[in-house]
Amino acid sequence: MQMVIIGSGTAVPQEGRSASCYLLRSGSGNVVLDLGPGSIWGLLRHAGFSVRDVDVILLSHLHMDHCADLAPLLFALRSRELARSTPLKILGPPGLNDHVKALGRVWRHWIEPAGYDLQIGEREGREDHKEIMLGGLKFRAAPTNHSLFNLAWRIDGPAGPGVLFTGDGEATEEMVALGRSAPHLLVCECSAGPDEVVPGHMNPEQAGELAAMCGSRLLVLSHINPGPDPDTLAALARKQFDGEVVVAEDGMVVDISDGGKLDLDAGTRGRGDAEKG
Ligand SMILES: [Zn+2]
Repeated sequence: MQMVIIGSGTAVPQEGRSASCYLLRSGSGNVVLDLGPGSIWGLLRHAGFSVRDVDVILLSHLHMDHCADLAPLLFALRSRELARSTPLKILGPPGLNDHVKALGRVWRHWIEPAGYDLQIGEREGREDHKEIMLGGLKFRAAPTNHSLFNLAWRIDGPAGPGVLFTGDGEATEEMVALGRSAPHLLVCECSAGPDEVVPGHMNPEQAGELAAMCGSRLLVLSHINPGPDPDTLAALARKQFDGEVVVAEDGMVVDISDGGKLDLDAGTRGRGDAEKG
């Protein structure tokens, strides 16, 4: 299983960091986590990935920097070039069905599925981590503390460590329990800077504490706002967590089957391509 970081930024536009989006590729299926604005182009630029090939979309919550590309994605899937017949599953927080219906009132038939089945599932994340199995991948969710209902998602393949992705928000007992259940890499939001305490968000120390509580193998700090120096963020997280810490970059590739081997060359390639584009 391999993760490509497509968008390591926030709602605030900044050079080199797009809004929230991640691609998980494995022999068991292609999963996109979050769809911030520009994601469907970012997937192509950083991973050569066409949205035609996505099997499952996991949304953490319904703030625009995490889901605004939903309508552009559904519109794109109507084009002849991206025609598909396999079902598309979208899992997200309570309110997702209403959200998609509201998009339909705005964009009408232009986002209706053509030739494929669109399956939307809402999760509360509190039902004893009840799992969903899809194509050999296991999905579980837990709520975090955020200004809008947010799900942390855990994804496990048939072998090797899984991934725990926090989306947005502060740690909860449910999220820690989800992390502690098996080896994993933690992709943690770090939108608050050093020494900042922002209710509903995490700073690097809090992210490090969460990784320590969860027993994570690798901590990837992501959802970074403009300003803080990445080395400072990583150093502060390391004060709380003994394991490896890395600050996400758009285009960075993390090899999860190897327990979190970083392919930083791929990250550099991603940036180079972005500069050209
Ligand atoms: Zn948010």
